[in-house]
Amino acid sequence: MCGCIFCRIAAHEIPTDILYEDDLCMVFEDINPQAPVHLLVIPKKHITSLNDADDEDRDLLGHLIGVVARVAKEKKIDGSGYRTVINTNAEAGQTVFHLHIHVLGGRRLNWPPG
Ligand code: AMP
Ligand code: ZN
Repeated sequence: MCGCIFCRIAAHEIPTDILYEDDLCMVFEDINPQAPVHLLVIPKKHITSLNDADDEDRDLLGHLIGVVARVAKEKKIDGSGYRTVINTNAEAGQTVFHLHIHVLGGRRLNWPPG
């Protein structure tokens, strides 16, 4: 069995409130939210980080971005604004090594990020 927590969520092995799901990806709320809206968009396919996405993943990555926009609209943060973040490796703060896109909104977000 794969020990990756997001693979386990994608396989429905861990009970999770799923906001959106299709053949390629899943969206759920971050367990430790950093904003009133904090969603994670993950591919069902295990990709360790953006460094490990290759040419054959290009359509999948585009699909994930489209889903980000869709769920931002559903959460009604499309008008006020939201931030998408992909942390890659240690200095960026990646803690789960299964590619994921953070979607943060519902408050003013500072720039530059810390
Ligand atoms: P990162 O630090 O970019 O790797 O982000 C990993 C995110 O996953 C963190 O914001 C965690 O709070 C979140 N997280 C870890 N485990 C879970 C889980 N079981 N369900 C939802 N979010 C999780
Ligand atoms: Zn995984």
